[in-house]
Amino acid sequence: MAVKIGRWDCPSCGQRGVLGPETRCPNCGASRPRDVRFYLPSDAEELRDEASIRAARAGADWICGHCHGQNKASQDTCQSCGNPRDEESEDVALQERRYSQQEIPVSPETRKRTLHPEEIERNKPRKKRSFFLPILLLIAAVVGGGAIPRTVEVQVDGFRWERSIQMLHKEAVAHEDWSTPAGAFEVSSFQDIHHYNKVFRGYETRTRTERVQTGSRRVACGTIDKGNGYFETQYCNEPVYESRQVEYQEEIYDQVPVYATKYRYKLWEWVARKDYLLTSSGQDHEPQWPDPSRYNGMADVKEGERAARYRVILTRPNGEQMEEELPETSWSSLSESSVLSGKAAWLWGWWYGLE
Ligand SMILES: [Zn+2]
Ligand SMILES: [Zn+2]
Repeated sequence: MAVKIGRWDCPSCGQRGVLGPETRCPNCGASRPRDVRFYLPSDAEELRDEASIRAARAGADWICGHCHGQNKASQDTCQSCGNPRDEESEDVALQERRYSQQEIPVSPETRKRTLHPEEIERNKPRKKRSFFLPILLLIAAVVGGGAIPRTVEVQVDGFRWERSIQMLHKEAVAHEDWSTPAGAFEVSSFQDIHHYNKVFRGYETRTRTERVQTGSRRVACGTIDKGNGYFETQYCNEPVYESRQVEYQEEIYDQVPVYATKYRYKLWEWVARKDYLLTSSGQDHEPQWPDPSRYNGMADVKEGERAARYRVILTRPNGEQMEEELPETSWSSLSESSVLSGKAAWLWGWWYGLE
């Protein structure tokens, strides 16, 4: 536990490097300032004598509430005015302060201040007032407010329809499988890998690296500004590790393929081909299905699924036109110049759809 002597600078006369434990400036006689800043020069020597070490560990100095004079922890009465300690609650101790080994203040420029308790309160970081969030909220409110839906009337100005019939063509389709279904023809067979079996082969000796704790060592892990002009190094135990090669047995498996008979065959299937898709469309209110009669009498073509889409052209009060898709029943019940109601953004006019 290395004890070292710190320093402070006198703000009254500018004297530098006053010995830490001095409570008055030896040059001008001014009291050590309330917000004294102790620092520890990097060449400060470790103290050996018992008296200094005892003084360092006696506790932080205190400031008299009457005269603001500074006193040692061992002094029960103020050495400047004679008032006993803690007679009034305004007597306060200087702050102890813990530093990591990297942040020890080695000069007045790098030090952290040893603060008076009042100052600690005063210097607490205040939350910065941000203007970003309120502005963001305002923008969101304006955009959001303008986006509130309201009912608008729209007029039907035209119709569109598309209909289709998917014709199916009978074709021989090739397949591969572990068995053949009914109706298969042109069947041939071959051997193929059906699955793999995991077969135990034996053990293999391998090595791996393991980290083992072999001991611990003492390292300096911090320094405390004792609040009385002294600094004391703190030590911690740090584990020491070693890497070792450790042998172990690994189970080894082989992947053994298992073969089985697989079949190639063909099946007659109804295939939906793009060139067998019949379509019709129009811009009126009389939808027609496309005519499949050209396939009449052909045994290898039949009708598959039917599909349809129906749309209306709508004009909004502002003259803007748009298309809306509708189910067939609603679409059929409309007529040219029907008036419908829909939802649009109150301010921005975005279209939300029909009601
Ligand atoms: Zn001075
Ligand atoms: Zn006093």
